[in-house]
Amino acid sequence: MSKIRILPDALASQVAAGEVVERPAAVIRELVENSLDAGSTNITVEVQRGGTALIRVVDDGCGMNREDVLLSIERHATSKIRTKEDLASILTFGFRGEALPSIASVTRFRLASREREALSGTEVEINGGKLSGVKDYGGAAGTVIEARSLFFNVPARRKFLRTEATEYSHIEQQFIIHAIAHSEVSFTLIRDGAVAFHLPATKDVLERIRGLVGGDLARRLIQVKPLEHHGIRVWGFIGGPGLSRSSRQQQLTFLNGRPIESSSVNYGLREGFHTTLMKGQHPVTFLFIEMDAVGYDINVHPAKKEVRFHDGFAVRDAVAKAVCEALEGTSQLPEGHIPPSTIAKVAQPMVAVPQQQSFAIHTPAVPFGIKAKPAMPMPTPAPEPPQIQVPVEISTAGVRSNSLESAKITVSPAPAPQEKPTSISKPEVPDFRIIGVLHRLYILLESMDGLVLMDQHAAHERVNFEKMRRAMEQGGVPSQRLLMPLTLQVSPRDADILRRHLETLGRLGIEIEPFGPNIFKVEALPTFLKADDPLSWLDQIIEELQTLSAKGSSLRLGEDMIATTVCRHSIKANDKLSNIEIEALLRDLFACEMPYCCPHGRPTLIQMSLKELEKKFGRLAP
Ligand code: ADP
Ligand code: MG
Repeated sequence: MSKIRILPDALASQVAAGEVVERPAAVIRELVENSLDAGSTNITVEVQRGGTALIRVVDDGCGMNREDVLLSIERHATSKIRTKEDLASILTFGFRGEALPSIASVTRFRLASREREALSGTEVEINGGKLSGVKDYGGAAGTVIEARSLFFNVPARRKFLRTEATEYSHIEQQFIIHAIAHSEVSFTLIRDGAVAFHLPATKDVLERIRGLVGGDLARRLIQVKPLEHHGIRVWGFIGGPGLSRSSRQQQLTFLNGRPIESSSVNYGLREGFHTTLMKGQHPVTFLFIEMDAVGYDINVHPAKKEVRFHDGFAVRDAVAKAVCEALEGTSQLPEGHIPPSTIAKVAQPMVAVPQQQSFAIHTPAVPFGIKAKPAMPMPTPAPEPPQIQVPVEISTAGVRSNSLESAKITVSPAPAPQEKPTSISKPEVPDFRIIGVLHRLYILLESMDGLVLMDQHAAHERVNFEKMRRAMEQGGVPSQRLLMPLTLQVSPRDADILRRHLETLGRLGIEIEPFGPNIFKVEALPTFLKADDPLSWLDQIIEELQTLSAKGSSLRLGEDMIATTVCRHSIKANDKLSNIEIEALLRDLFACEMPYCCPHGRPTLIQMSLKELEKKFGRLAP
């Protein structure tokens, strides 16, 4: 007797369900995606007991007629693709026709749907995959789907469900992702009878993000202006320097409205954030990528989470560029107040214009010269149409009135969407008054907004790092001949890598040439290198070379190389600085492209706003 058997239909569905429906959040993903595909403008998700007791999704989309309702619960029944060719350019979420039958096979399932013009709709009930009733439905146009008692008939799967709280948190994450991807749709989430989120439709994506993650985080995001690169458009919002997470939970990327994961995007983010991100940390991103659907394949992952780009390098470059431009244009200071859930957050801009500061400021010791500075870099003034001059009053209650100036900022029309941002405004040196030095490490500064702490070591590292990077960009790092050339013996694989990068290494001040099959002779090293053990330093460089892919930029390698060595060069904690030296350091720091963190992503400056202090001293309700 043969051992191989064709599974009965119901059992096959349950097995397949495992791939689509691994937990309640996955059911929500499938149902919400169907509602979006149906062109809904209102989607309500309701769950009970972490989705294990009930999942209900109600939409006002196109609905289905009776024939389609009955087809929709059959396997491989889809209205979204017809031919093999359609697969190449999918813009809908669904296309496999698996979700509804899979969900219906492991729940007590009810689907009711009515097309807008139809007099009545259809309601079906399915119990563990068996159709138990079809009747007329008199409800509103659109579709209601209920899935109760998840895995009631598959105890083995039910065992794998986590606590209700954990399952709910996955549901919430899923909901948040879709709600951010589609701000033009109104979303509601109801948990055990209480409204958890109600988000009216809006064109303003930041508004939607605020509704989901809260004003505190939203305020600390910086804008990524639309950037176009090889037909790939990238825009969105990202956390500024100093804002990072230990998980990827808030690293969200959307491709044509679909939440995705992609290693090309991850590489691009790493490269774009580069020295503003600490090792092991992940950025906060709400990044939108738009491109022609033929440029990628979505059908590579069972849950369609991962995509494969045909030109992954172009995507990586586009993301890196967009992120880099946004970061270098920012003027936000990392904030001193650190909630337990975060590693570091970015504060409000130093001078908020034109927002009125309403809190009471105690007269500072020295009047400040107030400079109006837009919170975000303003777009480059276009020659046409004429600019509008907007006088802006900065109200600073408590600051002596003679120091008040009415400042003017220039507001020009927003650039056309396809226009590339051309200039990036550099942060100016804010007006700081030196108060003193704490423990020979932290420099205390009084700012317009409160107290600023500078880590002198981190600040100096950043200054040195950028100095050397400039030297490298402008014709190479100065190098120093060794009295005795070093010999370096490496593995055949490393030898191959070294041979391919000899020229790059030369630009980085490392003169090295092949000396034998797997032996190299090192003739010169960069002058700034003060490593006690140059051979192990070279090992590190080879390791960096390995991680650079074929198209990775040599400039990045240089940056990493400088970053790893620049530490030894910089002022150490405990070096005593005079006021003049502190002033010079501040000036140099603010001349940097990224003054707010050291080359390893640690903050150089931390601000404690007066508001924060007032909260701490109980002057202001928290
Ligand atoms: P897929 O989304 O891959 O096509 P599904 O099993 O998720 O497969 O859905 C099957 C079909 O049922 C869809 O192609 C669509 O025509 C219809 N459908 C599912 N959900 C809805 C909905 N909320 N509104 C309208 N039609 C729907
Ligand atoms: Mg679907």
